[in-house]
Amino acid sequence: MIKNNTELEYKTSLWFTEEEKENLRIDYRIKEIIYDVYSPYQHIVIADTYDFGKTLILDDAVQTTVTDGFIYNEMITHVPICAHPGPKNILIIGGGDCGAVKEIAKYPYIEKIDMVEIDEMVVAASKKYLKEIAGMKQDNRINHIFADGVKYAKECKELYDIVIVDSSDPIGPAVKLFSAEFYSNIFKILNDDGIFVCQSESPIFYTSIMKKIYKTLQSIYKDVKLYTATVPTYPGGLWSFTMASKNEISVKTDKLVEGNQYVNKEILESCFCLPEFVKKSL
Ligand code: SAM
Repeated sequence: MIKNNTELEYKTSLWFTEEEKENLRIDYRIKEIIYDVYSPYQHIVIADTYDFGKTLILDDAVQTTVTDGFIYNEMITHVPICAHPGPKNILIIGGGDCGAVKEIAKYPYIEKIDMVEIDEMVVAASKKYLKEIAGMKQDNRINHIFADGVKYAKECKELYDIVIVDSSDPIGPAVKLFSAEFYSNIFKILNDDGIFVCQSESPIFYTSIMKKIYKTLQSIYKDVKLYTATVPTYPGGLWSFTMASKNEISVKTDKLVEGNQYVNKEILESCFCLPEFVKKSL
């Protein structure tokens, strides 16, 4: 919701309010609204905020920002790549801001990256107005497929080494990206040494969603591991990712490319160390 927040008596009046939960709102002061359009799927806003820089907002939920988006994008990509013996074919479902695909493209031995995003307008807007996150050189390994990831996974005949679900929260078109049926369909399109990873919501505020994802994946895959990172603009700050594999998961730090802003070998080595309350909640 973007509004003139005069009741809060701020000097300038343009604010975006994110309704995090019933009793929690976070206000971002905005310099400028850069893009504001309704696509067939959602309300897409790109705003320049004072503290987080350019910010992608879908249906009033912050998706990524120039200031902290790299934390999420590096953790959802480099950890699974370093957990695979030699990935060549990658599937990303969602990821419309193109931050994840940009990280994967850093690995020269990856041959093919299929990105299945339901909303072409998110990709176009991110490429045009959010170049700090989406901007990259033309890369012929990347195939943009504009389709529903749920349907794609069900009908897909290809096999992938890594499948990354970089989805929005389980609302609207993303709901089925959190279902057992979808996770089983992903299992079928993964090679035997394949790795699956998804963003699995807040361990602070959405513990039940996180736990459900973890338990559902455990019922399908041989090994499931959760890891976390702090992403300041996500509800509760601490965010979770869940990885699943048909084999034992182990991360090899020597595979990590250099030049990242967040992930380094020390973070990779300890990525599956969880805070005590997160361990207990699983
Ligand atoms: N990092 C972000 C976060 O956790 O908030 C998510 C990034 S990305 C912008 C999420 C994308 O998932 C959106 O662009 C949205 O259009 C896409 N999406 C939602 N449901 C989808 C579906 N069923 N199939 C494919 N993409 C979907």
